[in-house]
Amino acid sequence: MSTGCFADQPAVVVGAAAGIGKATATLLAHRGARVACLDRDVDGARRLAASLGDQGSKAVAVEMDVTDDASVAEALASAERDLGPISVLVNCAGITGATNRLSEDVDVDDFDLVYRVNLRGAFLLSRAVLPRMVAHGYGRVLHVASIAGKEGNAGMVAYSATKAGLIGMVKAQGKEYAGTGVTVNALAPAVIRTAMVDAMPEAQVRYMTDRIPMKRTGTLAEAAELICWVVSPACSFTTGFTFDMSGGRAVY
Ligand code: NAD
Repeated sequence: MSTGCFADQPAVVVGAAAGIGKATATLLAHRGARVACLDRDVDGARRLAASLGDQGSKAVAVEMDVTDDASVAEALASAERDLGPISVLVNCAGITGATNRLSEDVDVDDFDLVYRVNLRGAFLLSRAVLPRMVAHGYGRVLHVASIAGKEGNAGMVAYSATKAGLIGMVKAQGKEYAGTGVTVNALAPAVIRTAMVDAMPEAQVRYMTDRIPMKRTGTLAEAAELICWVVSPACSFTTGFTFDMSGGRAVY
């Protein structure tokens, strides 16, 4: 299948085994991309790649842990061997770390892990793919940040800080690579109903949803649609920007 605006483009989705990454990898494949599904949950990534293959798309699964420099390098090289030079990178790998905890009660190891996944991992991915994309004169990078990075969620200091860092990283990289044919953007969702959200205490989800002007959570389809537009050839004059996806700008 090679129809749609991603016809035969090699696209890498990190964190593809679940949630927003899975929905995005699926939509990219349905729109013609050849998709590498990367995740530390390699079984989940394999299940998705097999299902996309059954639907007529070209998809491969590769194990990757974004906290591990060698794993990032090997997985990207493997994706390129299978699909060719990467045109699109969507990074959805993320963890919340401890929730409902004052900063003084946050374990430093927990903070470090959230940093390594959410910010350092994103940096490793951008750092690796940007020069490859520049060499081909075209590329689209999107990292999933969070509204927590714009507003700061009380009780989620590591998550808020790393997502704010991601927004800053994307601003810097957008400027650094402007004019090369490569764009770097982010998405800042409020609450999208996924396993990550289901794992939070219900009271916290209700608290967050109540503060969304539309009074509902976002859907995976809505997230995947916006991401796919931002990483499409059509989105060509916007870089370094964080797209809001919050039902009317939630402030927690
Ligand atoms: P999810 O937990 O459903 O999926 C995250 C995926 O990332 C999983 O498949 C997981 O295995 C993978 N992952 C985690 N750590 C990894 C690592 N070290 N290396 C490789 N893969 C790893 O989460 P989701 O809700 O789909 O969230 C996706 C992104 O969107 C995250 O960055 C999250 O912070 C962000 N986000 C989500 C929401 C929401 O409401 N769901 C809101 C704002 C931001």
